Amino acid sequence: MKLNRRGFIGSGAAVATTLAASTVFANGHGKPRVVVVGGGAGGATAARYIAKDSKGAIDVTLIEPSRVYYTCFYSNLYLGGFKTIDDLGHSYGTIAARGVNVVHDWAVGVDRDAKTVALAGGGFVPYDKLIMSPGIDFIDGAVEGWGLLSQNAMPHAYKGGSQTELLKAQIAEMPQGGTFAMVAPPNPYRCPPGPYERVSMVAHYLKANNPTAKIIVADPKPKFSKQGLFQEGWAKYYSGTIDWIGGDFGGGNVSVDPNAMTVTIDGEVTKVDVCNVIPAMKAGRIAELAGVTEGNFAPVNAADMSTKADADLYVLGDASQQGDMPKSGFSANSQAKVCANAVRGALTDSKVFPAKFSNTCWSLIGTNDGVKVGATYEATDEKISKVDGFVSATGESADLRKATYEESEGWYAGITADMFG
Ligand SMILES: Cc1cc2nc3c(=O)[nH]c(=O)nc-3n(C[C@H](O)[C@H](O)[C@H](O)COP(=O)(O)OP(=O)(O)OC[C@H]3O[C@@H](n4cnc5c(N)ncnc54)[C@H](O)[C@@H]3O)c2cc1C
Repeated sequence: MKLNRRGFIGSGAAVATTLAASTVFANGHGKPRVVVVGGGAGGATAARYIAKDSKGAIDVTLIEPSRVYYTCFYSNLYLGGFKTIDDLGHSYGTIAARGVNVVHDWAVGVDRDAKTVALAGGGFVPYDKLIMSPGIDFIDGAVEGWGLLSQNAMPHAYKGGSQTELLKAQIAEMPQGGTFAMVAPPNPYRCPPGPYERVSMVAHYLKANNPTAKIIVADPKPKFSKQGLFQEGWAKYYSGTIDWIGGDFGGGNVSVDPNAMTVTIDGEVTKVDVCNVIPAMKAGRIAELAGVTEGNFAPVNAADMSTKADADLYVLGDASQQGDMPKSGFSANSQAKVCANAVRGALTDSKVFPAKFSNTCWSLIGTNDGVKVGATYEATDEKISKVDGFVSATGESADLRKATYEESEGWYAGITADMFG
């Protein structure tokens, strides 16, 4: 018995109740049952593909608490004023209409012997194969002075939706000439260029609305993704605005005080107006409760994303420890398709194709100035292994940068349709 529902964040009341010993969802009528926990980039894709490709031969249940999923991808463009919050929201109606049984609830425990998932609302969902894509949670105590109770004073805005809206509202309310601080995360974390695209988009907004404001970034890392491209853009558009303090200059020696609204970097205390704290990350808590994590993430087999701990339990996306792929929505979607194909093959004897993966991360630095980094990958016995890659170059023409931005627009439309359409 590996069920452990204690200490699950966000579901305290329901956890305290004794779950009925009944199965609440058993619609399969003898069909194999796949349960997917988490309806984000990885989970929505996996559920949709298994339902679509099995043509009703597999019973698919998706467990996701939110009625609307707000993408983190493109959320920086919302901060910059290029997108609205509604542009980022995606509902589950189309997935449901395509045959996925969508259950809006939290999964609060997994019994790997009985093969059931416990719900916060009560009852269990039985499975033959369980796929989890719960995203990330934050490591307690990662930034001195910051905890989840401070996320309103100092938002992370690293899970989509209300946190992103809060950060945008705080930036809009900054006094003229005020200070925006970011505490950047250590590796590995969700979306390697994400913090730096955010800095660019905040700077873009401030240039138009608060031109004497300043940005300070405290970063534990000595270098970061697409650094040359970002720093070239920062010098071109936002000269004198951004002070990036990397790990070699004390950027990792940081604490915050959410009551006083101060940030202390390598002993120097600064009063700030907005503080975006992005703490170190780990797999979404349910993966830990299922007992498939080692350290902070869940080690998986590259060929099908099954966990090293349990061949019938798969972990996708940011929660997985898979090898060379960055933690991104594109990666989660790519891994989900490999997993969906393998799970369908295992349950219905359909053809399984060799695992191939790809990823591209686009970032917007200024208006029509898009850059990208990407790669293709294959499954080896040890890990998902990089085959070849590409990255934008410094000094590219404005036309090429505009074309790269337009490519990202096409990508966003296409990939969200692939997940939720
Ligand atoms: C600022 C920013 C910018 C980004 N930009 C890009 C980009 O341009 N391109 C890109 O590819 N990626 C980008 N990303 C990264 C991308 O958002 C993530 O890598 C991706 O969402 C990971 O997918 P996932 O399925 O692992 O997790 P998520 O998409 O976070 O989905 C997890 C889901 O699981 C649900 N869940 C969690 N726990 C439970 C539970 N116990 N029971 C039921 N449901 C649960 C959550 O509600 C959530 O809906 C960005 C991220 C950020 C923060």
